[in-house]
Amino acid sequence: MASGRFKKILVANRGEIAVRVISACKELGIQTVAVYSEADRYSSHVRFADQAICIGPAKSARSYLDQASIISAAEITNVDAIHPGYGFLSENAGFAEVCETSGIKFIGPPPEVIRLMGVKERARAFMREMGVPVLPGSAGVLSSAGEALEMADSIGYPVILKASAGGGGRGMRVVRAPGEISALFAQARQEAGAAFSSPDLYLEKYVGAPRHIEFQALADEHGNVEILGERECSIQRRHQKLLEESPSPAVTDAQRSEIGAALRRALSASGYANAGTVEFLMDETGKLYFIEVNARVQVEHPVTEFVTGIDIVKSQIRIAQGEPLREILRGPVETRGHAIECRINAENPDTFAPSPGRVTGFHVPGGIGIRVDTWAYADCVVSPYYDSLLAKLIAYGGDRGEAIRRMQRALSMFIVEGIHTSIPLHQRILADPDFQAGRFDTNFILRFQQAKAEAAGK
Ligand code: ADP
Repeated sequence: MASGRFKKILVANRGEIAVRVISACKELGIQTVAVYSEADRYSSHVRFADQAICIGPAKSARSYLDQASIISAAEITNVDAIHPGYGFLSENAGFAEVCETSGIKFIGPPPEVIRLMGVKERARAFMREMGVPVLPGSAGVLSSAGEALEMADSIGYPVILKASAGGGGRGMRVVRAPGEISALFAQARQEAGAAFSSPDLYLEKYVGAPRHIEFQALADEHGNVEILGERECSIQRRHQKLLEESPSPAVTDAQRSEIGAALRRALSASGYANAGTVEFLMDETGKLYFIEVNARVQVEHPVTEFVTGIDIVKSQIRIAQGEPLREILRGPVETRGHAIECRINAENPDTFAPSPGRVTGFHVPGGIGIRVDTWAYADCVVSPYYDSLLAKLIAYGGDRGEAIRRMQRALSMFIVEGIHTSIPLHQRILADPDFQAGRFDTNFILRFQQAKAEAAGK
């Protein structure tokens, strides 16, 4: 179906994002179908959906990534649309096409746009053509280590080799000197080939101490694009985000409007529709460079929802129904105040090792300016099969200082017993003077852990 009001949506995901999508559907008066693996029989997304269908065993490849099972669940339950959440099939252009040919609306960008954005060096070339600044680097896929060497010599070291089909911070290698390139090229190719659909690599200038900053976009199916401000996501461990906030303490108003205008042009020209995020790195001089587009809703979307008052997931659904942005947004996009999100992962806060198991005690904080997005409940079991995200704690304040203090009090009232979580790490981050002053980059956690280890060693 091309458009029209949806009566029923299948949520092709699990965990907190499945609950988030179900919440949006309930508010829009749309029925929901959950799909689940045998390991997720007692998950809250199963409980909160109107219908639920088991699609296979615990292993994602045979359940949440099994397109045929998901499409048959959608056909049996006669849904109008599928919301893919993030991860799993959300950026799979082939799946979006299968939905289309099955007469089911895929809630996301058109398949050809997912394909363009999913090939990272093609997205880079497209953005450069559209006047969006990109880091110096290869124009396309590198054919050999020799070509990588030539390219690196011309732009200067260090450089970073990245997988064309990469994601999740994997398959990247930093090259600091010409002598390292051939071994690292072979390693990165091997890793990319094993982890992703292709071993293709490209190369770009490596920024030693970057900030990760991303812009949230919403685009309707009539060529209109709006930018909902930016998020600062520099607090990362192993190239994965841990704490995000909006607005970024480092982005100027001039950058916001300049990048915003360039992105509106570029996304509109690409035929983009639905929600998307455009990621940038900020170098040490404060300049922003495009790195990639995430053609889906992101984990950290709630901080943007707090500062704009716009429900991004409901917007996604309404866009897919064919509604124009001007009706969905009810006026110009304005941001107000400051929001911070802490990812509460089931993991050891010092080693980051996953910590699956039974949650024996669970209490979530509430009160003014606090939001908790979670699938967890007392006595639930964190399965070793999936990612470790247990909950997202989001705090809103009139300014950054108030958001920080509110987050600190909420963390002190968040109780998770029986497993390790990242809560103690977040408490240490929020109390850090550099964090409080907004002085940090993507190496923050590394230095922080090193300083702690040194202090412990003394
Ligand atoms: P993925 O799709 O795997 O998440 P990204 O391109 O988004 O890969 O990069 C993930 C993270 O890796 C960034 O947030 C940043 O910390 C680091 N990174 C990526 N490219 C560079 C670069 N050119 N210089 C420095 N760090 C980088």
